[in-house]
Amino acid sequence: MSYFSELGLAEPILRALSVKGYTDPSPIQRQAIPALMEGRDLLGIAQTGTGKTAAFSLPSLHRLASAPKPRQNAGCRMLVLSPTRELAAQIADNMKGYAKFLNLTIQCIFGGVPVGKQARALERGVDILVATPGRLLDLIDQRALTLKHVEIFVLDEADQMMDLGFIVPLKRVANMLPAGRQSLFFSATMPQAIADLGRQFINNPVKVEVAPQSTTAERVEQFAIHINQAEKQALLTLSLRAGLADDAAENATHGAIDRALVFSRTKHGADRIVRHLVAAGIPAAAIHGNKSQAQRTAALGGFRQGAIRVLVATDIAARGIDVSGVSHVYNYEIPNVAEQYVHRIGRTARAGATGVAISYIAADEKPYIRDIERLTRVKLDLLPLPDDFQNQAARLPAPARPAPAQPQGGGRGQGGGRGQGGGGRSGGQRGDRPQGERRDGAAGEDSGERKRRFRPRGPKGLGAHKGAVRRAG
Ligand code: AMP
Repeated sequence: MSYFSELGLAEPILRALSVKGYTDPSPIQRQAIPALMEGRDLLGIAQTGTGKTAAFSLPSLHRLASAPKPRQNAGCRMLVLSPTRELAAQIADNMKGYAKFLNLTIQCIFGGVPVGKQARALERGVDILVATPGRLLDLIDQRALTLKHVEIFVLDEADQMMDLGFIVPLKRVANMLPAGRQSLFFSATMPQAIADLGRQFINNPVKVEVAPQSTTAERVEQFAIHINQAEKQALLTLSLRAGLADDAAENATHGAIDRALVFSRTKHGADRIVRHLVAAGIPAAAIHGNKSQAQRTAALGGFRQGAIRVLVATDIAARGIDVSGVSHVYNYEIPNVAEQYVHRIGRTARAGATGVAISYIAADEKPYIRDIERLTRVKLDLLPLPDDFQNQAARLPAPARPAPAQPQGGGRGQGGGRGQGGGGRSGGQRGDRPQGERRDGAAGEDSGERKRRFRPRGPKGLGAHKGAVRRAG
């Protein structure tokens, strides 16, 4: 008998868990499930990868199944809000697995796909709705959805919701939810602003915390390299090539790469990195808000199956993605919000594995590293550039030309990007905001796009900035 059955979960749920091969609950599941089965509200501080989806899904499914109710037109009994499409789809998939032997309907809705089909799917009501906030409100505004029958409300990744500017939509949602519902509020970090947001949803909650606040995943080895922005591409290509090689376990500086996730601050930057990698014979795909849903699904699928071992992502696109076996995270650009770093490196070292995170620090990014080290209380290990970096970099092939240039929206010409020098990040957090759910189509992720491009150059220019750390000799 598994510990899950001791918790009193209904038999069809236990059967689904055994199909999935889960035997023991994760710490957050142990802490959360008993209180949630009693109907308590919950405040959970946990990153993805801790098993929090099952922590909120299992007791909720149990409660919904043990008190069956007819479906209400355009209504739902449980609402799960997620900041991104990928995470919403992942949560819905997980829930479908746990509800496999229950007679409950689960629907997932998010932006970027036609709304009509989603509205039709809601006509006769569903039991569980997993949604991103923008599309949820669209459907409510179209009267295709009502929240007045919600019994259980889950807000996932609240800090990311806030980073994405979803505060106003969330307040609207809070006002529409019935007073008597159960509320669950999850966030990876709990700064004051998030705690204040939480108070609008939860009432006398049980508090569950699986990792100390803002502590960087302990099993991740964290390194940093000082490098010119213009040299980052060459360093990444060489590092990936070495890590993916057959002899990597013995020879690569950071060990063999199973799968690598590279974080780019901008969408065009992500595409450019992929072009360079592909030109160097390293299969890679990009995932970001300019990609169609089909492209994103294909890229993720290829990465999950191991056909593509390098995925280049913007923060939001990568958020919450559950792929086991991400051995290396590369911070091609340093996030200007320190918490984002914690989320990024949390993509590796999941489910007991160890992971490596490597940050490429250009001169203008040094202040961000100070913020990160202050938040995580971890000093990044400074690495030298590889031996013979300049010669190797100069030998790398140039990428194929990109597809015919797409017009840059909003008449933003050359002058709209970030300058070469400092002060370029004045857009702050908003400059990093991706497209995910935005309805205005503004080029959020690219508002601070660097105009510099890497071109292999002679040894003279490479590594020339004074911050570069080099191996002696
Ligand atoms: P999550 O934090 O919800 O994204 O879950 C992280 C991963 O752990 C997912 O792949 C889950 O399927 C898996 N998982 C969740 N709970 C358990 C468990 N009790 N035993 C084994 N795997 C689990």
